[in-house]
Amino acid sequence: MDWLSIPNIDVYAVIGILLFFAAGEVILGHYHNDHRDKTDWTLELMGFFVVAFTKTIQVLAIVFIGDALLPQFSNALGSWSLWIGIPFYLLIDDISQYWYHRSAHENEWLWKHHRVHHAAEDMGILVSYRNSWVYYLLMPNLWWGAICTYLGLAPAVIFGLIFKQIVVTSTHSTWTWDTILYKHSWLSPIATVIERIFITPAFHYSHHGASMADNVSDPNGNFGNTFSLWDQMFGTAKFTRAYPEKFGLLEDPKDPWYSHLLYPFVKSPKEDSELHKDFKKEKNLGTEPFKQELKAGTYLYCQCGYSRDQPFCNGYHNGTKIKPLKFEIKSDRKVSICTCKLTKTPPYCDDSHLSI
Ligand SMILES: [Zn+2]
Repeated sequence: MDWLSIPNIDVYAVIGILLFFAAGEVILGHYHNDHRDKTDWTLELMGFFVVAFTKTIQVLAIVFIGDALLPQFSNALGSWSLWIGIPFYLLIDDISQYWYHRSAHENEWLWKHHRVHHAAEDMGILVSYRNSWVYYLLMPNLWWGAICTYLGLAPAVIFGLIFKQIVVTSTHSTWTWDTILYKHSWLSPIATVIERIFITPAFHYSHHGASMADNVSDPNGNFGNTFSLWDQMFGTAKFTRAYPEKFGLLEDPKDPWYSHLLYPFVKSPKEDSELHKDFKKEKNLGTEPFKQELKAGTYLYCQCGYSRDQPFCNGYHNGTKIKPLKFEIKSDRKVSICTCKLTKTPPYCDDSHLSI
């Protein structure tokens, strides 16, 4: 039987993969100490339907536009073998998603549509469905899948999607299959080969960690989805082989699920939210250094100037290309930290503020 001809086979496969990992998470008891509240459950389940709905719209739109303007391309690549079709679809899908995801962290407007993804305080298979409707609608790789389907590569798209679904679901799941690879040193070379090609749970968990100060997280790196190649190529890869303890936003006003999913059509009622109608990203620069006693520990110094928790990072660098700077205080001591952001010796003051 040609199972590729079964209608909606990709949908069944996606649901099957999700149920498989969900069963693993439930059996391992991962939902007992979970921070998820009603808002999280609602938006993760709604997010799933938003993606399915958006994909349908994209396929219909491409068929409509293709038939109207470029009908000669319909099924034009239908004779390609799967060995060419799958990498062709998957590699372009993944590199475009890398740049889109990265832009969502570096562009102020797009960040607001991806922020919900990082508001999750727990990992889990449904976390991958936390993005706004606009984020999915503009996602270049979803359009790419629809275009490939129109070009006659539907079987390659189905195989590619199933493979991608396995990787993406497993890298968000609390059932972290890669843990065993880091436990035994003789497995280390295998771990190296795998993590240099594919995204592992440890690699993606680092992207979800709340703060770089834990030495494991890098919420402004590890943007890849299926392959880690792009992060390595474009200098954003961090291989940790460890998992952060804390996930989520540094400053979370707890927006309702409908603002998260429907922004900018529905703004947040929370006045201190980035999704509130009056929210404005403003620099909070000082003219005097921050002079105080700091306890020994790791700190994040705000380099973008937007933090409301000066001179420390509060996560507002999201939506810019600037990252916070991690620094260590070895023993309790008095420090003088720059607040004007002109210092040449960050995070410490070098009297540059005197030139203001
Ligand atoms: Zn992200």
